[in-house]
Amino acid sequence: MQMILLGPPGAGKGTQAETLVKKLGIPHISTGDMFRKAIKEGTALGTKAKGYMDQGLLVPDEVTIGIVKERIAQDDCRNGFLLDGFPRTVFQAESLDTILKDMKIQLDGVINIEVPKEKLVSRLTGRRVCKGCGATYHVIFNPPAVEGKCDKCGEMLMQRADDSEETVLNRLNVYEQQTAPLIEFYRAQGVLKNIDGDQPIDQVMIAIGKSLGSNWA
Ligand SMILES: [Zn+2]
Repeated sequence: MQMILLGPPGAGKGTQAETLVKKLGIPHISTGDMFRKAIKEGTALGTKAKGYMDQGLLVPDEVTIGIVKERIAQDDCRNGFLLDGFPRTVFQAESLDTILKDMKIQLDGVINIEVPKEKLVSRLTGRRVCKGCGATYHVIFNPPAVEGKCDKCGEMLMQRADDSEETVLNRLNVYEQQTAPLIEFYRAQGVLKNIDGDQPIDQVMIAIGKSLGSNWA
């Protein structure tokens, strides 16, 4: 199965991806992992990408797309793959279409995990980190025994600047703006599968299974 996973920060994409690839027996291809692999293996494109990254520059599309192409041509992708973090733009999606057409494989589905923005904000701003040992908590989902104090070392818990409401809202808006055209692109192709991410983790997984015609209940 050839699939793409979309979802805003805080939608639980990572957790779902982990279960999904186990169920389907396909590799999880995240953009970060893919770059690290290409760089480690010293492929021509990996070296090119590293050059840009070392200078703090954005890796150009042609390099990224080349790395994706190399990755999905590898042996472990024979039965499919789950792409996560790519494509990000309609241009990248069109390039992916061309790659898949050349390889004579079809995209089976684009899973789009949806969660209302207010819920995402409360999920993302609730994270707390221990100043002492780095343990992480969540004020709603994983609170410490004593408010504001680390269970493990007793140090104070704090909120990272990244998790402040302003930063979180900004990240969510950027995601929305970037992804909306992509969602439209896949909707038009008839491969988009909207999944309600505002329910318990196992229910989300069951809904994903259903959208793929499988019964994972
Ligand atoms: Zn601690």
